[in-house]
Amino acid sequence: MKIAIVGGGASGLIAAIILSKNGLYIDLYERNENLGKKIKASGNGHCNIFNTNVDESHYFGNNCSNFIKTVFKKFDFKTFKKICNDIGLFLQIKENGRVYPLSNESASVVELFLASLRNEYVNIINGTLVNKIKNKDKKFYLFDNNNVFLDVYDTVILSTGSMAAYQINGECNGLNIASFLGHTINDPYPSLVPVECSNVYECKRMEGVKVYACIDVYINNKKKDEICGDLLFTKYGLSGFAILDISQTVSFALLNNERVFLSVNLLPNMEKGLFKNSLLKTAKRNGKLTIYEALLGYLPKKISKTLLSKLNITYQTPLSAVSLKTINNIAHMIFNWRFDISDTHGFKYSEASGGGVDTSEINATTMESRLIDNLYLTGELLDVVGKRGGYNLAFAFATGYISATNILRKSI
Ligand SMILES: Cc1cc2nc3c(=O)[nH]c(=O)nc-3n(C[C@H](O)[C@H](O)[C@H](O)COP(=O)(O)OP(=O)(O)OC[C@H]3O[C@@H](n4cnc5c(N)ncnc54)[C@H](O)[C@@H]3O)c2cc1C
Repeated sequence: MKIAIVGGGASGLIAAIILSKNGLYIDLYERNENLGKKIKASGNGHCNIFNTNVDESHYFGNNCSNFIKTVFKKFDFKTFKKICNDIGLFLQIKENGRVYPLSNESASVVELFLASLRNEYVNIINGTLVNKIKNKDKKFYLFDNNNVFLDVYDTVILSTGSMAAYQINGECNGLNIASFLGHTINDPYPSLVPVECSNVYECKRMEGVKVYACIDVYINNKKKDEICGDLLFTKYGLSGFAILDISQTVSFALLNNERVFLSVNLLPNMEKGLFKNSLLKTAKRNGKLTIYEALLGYLPKKISKTLLSKLNITYQTPLSAVSLKTINNIAHMIFNWRFDISDTHGFKYSEASGGGVDTSEINATTMESRLIDNLYLTGELLDVVGKRGGYNLAFAFATGYISATNILRKSI
């Protein structure tokens, strides 16, 4: 049986490890000179490689719940840990089930994966972009981007990933290949991505400020999601972990042309009433403080200035001269600052992609296409996207592993 793996990322590499370890020959095509580039970039260089809490509740995609359930029934943390330990990669579990390499370094993960592929069963063909796959008479004919014929195979694993952070991997044409082979593609959209705001001028004025905030997400004026965490103001809009965590909901709504705004509470550790009373008390105790100076007791400088400008309040106004109505307005903004979202910051700045090959066309117990025998599709190419916390790599490894074990089963 001649096997090709197209894409040397997380899912392709684990499939290559399993197949070669069991004595099956593979050709591994990778468009870049280096394999595993996204693994290397993952977790800010630390590689949040898995999550011990993997289940369907941490993933999004078109009707993919049962699909995910089946995937993680077949591939759990124990299985993953064993594979890693066998190749000399040891793991540590941190907060919320997040798993990292013991070395705490993503580069060492890639090196160990590659070391385990240094055997006579693996032929790595790097610097080669597979542009087209023709399926004829139960065979797969691979062509490069100059339409030059590469080789013919009995089995193909398509593990080309997504358009997310395309500056790392190069633009993904895997969806075109899957579509050409007859698969349904749900529109891709960026996930785990910063967002751009219509009131960008305000964000720009607060650029670089990071606060702990609670954020409610409104889609077509209905509250759809909420999160508390780090919020970072940027020159184009909003970023930070809290934004990445709600970006899936936001991006999917924007894809469907829905209206999105965020209501941000910049003082989540204080009640609104308490804040107003506290300001009034300060006014009595120290009425000479300006309203700007008084706000510095609660908020960073750039936020205080932007807020006062937005409400047309002169910074130098003595606190004692500020009316109750104005204090109410200030409190309203601090606890419900509205940011209208015009767009995401795009695929280039996203860590993952939603959309992709519809999972109804993939057998979840094997990763084999339901349309074409011996064609396997894995990882981010599929319409499954995980939350932040190691869920995307977990899904890529799980699907790569399942495809390889099924090919092994068929080969016996
Ligand atoms: C900056 C960043 C940080 C991240 N951090 C984390 C994290 O900490 N934890 C986590 O769980 N997830 C993280 N992710 C997401 C995670 O890296 C991906 O979900 C995962 O790598 C997807 O695996 P994959 O095998 O589907 O695709 P990839 O790992 O992207 O691999 C696809 C491979 O296929 C190659 N390729 C594509 N098209 C072709 C072609 N036509 N011919 C030949 N080769 C091709 C690409 O060059 C690439 O090497 C992060 C992503 C980014 C961008």
